[in-house]
Amino acid sequence: MMNRLDRVLLWFRRDLRVEDQAAFYHACRAGKAVFCVFVLDQDILAALPRSDRRVIFILEALRVLDVQLRELCPGGGLIVRHGSASEEVPKLAAELGVQAVFYNHDDEPAALARDALVAQRLASFACGFETFKDHVIFERSEVLTAQGKPYGVFTPYKNAWLRKLNDFYLRAYPVERHATALAATPLAKGVPTLAEIGFEPAELNPILMRGSLGAADLFDEFLERIERYDRSRDFPAIKGPSYLSVHLRFGTISIRQLARAAWARMQAGEKGAEIWLAELIWRDFYHQLMHHHPHAMHAAFRAEYDAIAWENGPNADSRFAAWCEGRTGYPLVDAAMLQLNQTGYMHNRLRMVTASFLIKDLGISWQRGEAYFAEQLLDFDLAANNGGWQWAASSGCDAQPWFRIFNPVTQSEKFDAEGRFITRYLPQLTKLPAKLRHAPWTAKPLELQACGLVLGRDYPTPIVDHAEAREQTLARYAVVKSRVLPPG
Ligand code: FAD
Repeated sequence: MMNRLDRVLLWFRRDLRVEDQAAFYHACRAGKAVFCVFVLDQDILAALPRSDRRVIFILEALRVLDVQLRELCPGGGLIVRHGSASEEVPKLAAELGVQAVFYNHDDEPAALARDALVAQRLASFACGFETFKDHVIFERSEVLTAQGKPYGVFTPYKNAWLRKLNDFYLRAYPVERHATALAATPLAKGVPTLAEIGFEPAELNPILMRGSLGAADLFDEFLERIERYDRSRDFPAIKGPSYLSVHLRFGTISIRQLARAAWARMQAGEKGAEIWLAELIWRDFYHQLMHHHPHAMHAAFRAEYDAIAWENGPNADSRFAAWCEGRTGYPLVDAAMLQLNQTGYMHNRLRMVTASFLIKDLGISWQRGEAYFAEQLLDFDLAANNGGWQWAASSGCDAQPWFRIFNPVTQSEKFDAEGRFITRYLPQLTKLPAKLRHAPWTAKPLELQACGLVLGRDYPTPIVDHAEAREQTLARYAVVKSRVLPPG
């Protein structure tokens, strides 16, 4: 090993844990004294609403991280700065006199631009930087076709991903063995409160208040039911998925730990684990797409889809507001939007249904929906959110064909047959017989009267007719048939 550096700075970003963390491991191996920092980045925070659940999640995760760092190094802990990360990190590096800053990759375009600026500023006083893969199993160009090109279709990508996988890629970084390099510092003064950084309280499920400790509990609980995942994941009324997405987003759990467990169970023949691992592979897939096709983060992956004329104007605005607020008159769509607004989470099946409804029933641009999800989702992740929206809009690389249009009522009957999920968020529909909960407007006046429900007062009438909207969408999308352009 090369000569150890005297002092290094470890910059935490979307990797808020001490266990199995790549940059942490490498920093401790490289430096005799390792300082740790997290920057509450004003460049990101300034654009957020003042009560944002993600900020609470981050502060709580930082508190746990700070305690864990102090346990590893008495007198140490996390230095927390509040400002522009591209200024704060070089400033702190200079203040501490470190020789290098260590951090994990973040391939979002804005993060890359910020990191380039940080690297430039560090170089101005001869401070180095070292970066590592941590957030995904395979990144960037690690999985390519035989022709050396990035994959654009998921299934062959997944097969290549699985062929490449071996113990090396799943091995945990044994951070604790090297944590003696952590340095004590009076600059670690604890984590600020919400008010101190200008935010207000918001409701967050208590299970999400304990950072990496909460993630570990959630994963243990999920492992008890992972073998049923393939059969339960599509039904929003039951506990099917893992609910780990927010932890994956902020790195409060290691992707290697999750993939290792799923892979071992898959090898033992568990179908549920195999399907769950495929979801983790979707995550890698969208991340490598973002790396190779950054244009898709602000335009259609397939350029011909940018020619679609979306609905605009006051009527579209009021329909968009109805969609955001769960007032479309389609109960599954509305219950899903209420789940998002009230909890910051939405079940995957419902993300597909609501996205499809906005685009193909209301004729509103997928980018407006993408932006609303970005604002509301606790697990908002640029690559996955953009991938999901472009999948629903049919403009993505491996997307739903444009002529496939979800029927919101059929989806409801299939995936929430008893309407149990619907009534959790729309209790006014509880008295309706289960089969009518999917489409209350089809109830006879006497049936509505019997349950004391007045449509238009207690629950909206549908804002569009699905059959008509479907025809309009087919006509709207016809433009893509005549213009097939290469992606990018
Ligand atoms: P599980 O079913 O337990 O899956 C485990 C993990 O696999 C997830 O936590 C996630 O990291 C990953 N994963 C699962 N499905 C996908 C997928 N389709 N694409 C990429 N990764 C996946 N996921 C996000 O993490 N952030 C987003 O901003 C996001 N926006 C979406 C928007 C739309 C329109 C759609 C259709 C999907 C979106 N997804 C997003 C993917 C998926 O809906 C969520 O990852 C999943 O619902 C999170 O719940 P979970 O952790 O319980 O999932």
